Amino acid sequence: MSDKIISPFFGQHNHAHCTQEALEQAEVSCAGKGLKLTALRKEVLTIVWQTHKPVGAYDVLEELRTRGHKPSPPTAYRALDFLVHAKLIHRLASLNAYIGCPAPDEGHQGQFLICTQCKSVAEIEDLRIIKAIDATAASTGFNANRQSIEITGLCGACESQT
Ligand SMILES: [Zn+2]
Ligand SMILES: [Zn+2]
Ligand SMILES: [Zn+2]
Repeated sequence: MSDKIISPFFGQHNHAHCTQEALEQAEVSCAGKGLKLTALRKEVLTIVWQTHKPVGAYDVLEELRTRGHKPSPPTAYRALDFLVHAKLIHRLASLNAYIGCPAPDEGHQGQFLICTQCKSVAEIEDLRIIKAIDATAASTGFNANRQSIEITGLCGACESQT
């Protein structure tokens, strides 16, 4: 069993690098899976990757309009659905918002640490939690096939300011 930090809380860093890497990875990942990363889908992915903070569908739509696109809301929502399906972004149910995933090709079930102050999100995968839930669910006859756990609190940077 190994646990990993899929996406840490980022302090000062060259974020253009994160975005560029995510886009390159998305191209490779989609090509490998035979999925079509259209110009609009790519643009939506870029918007989600603007920061390490989750963005709502409405914000994506607004940003697309700012960038000179005129997508109908369903078009923007479908692009987000595609990106979730392609595992390039995750949907955070508690916030009804989306966050880019830096590891789309590493099968994982996300656990998300959501900072309530700066809104940053870190993604971790603690296999002990996943196995514990699987085991307890199985003992009731339930077959858990997808886990998404959202945990709220304060990140280290915000915590040290209080
Ligand atoms: Zn970054
Ligand atoms: Zn992920
Ligand atoms: Zn924070």
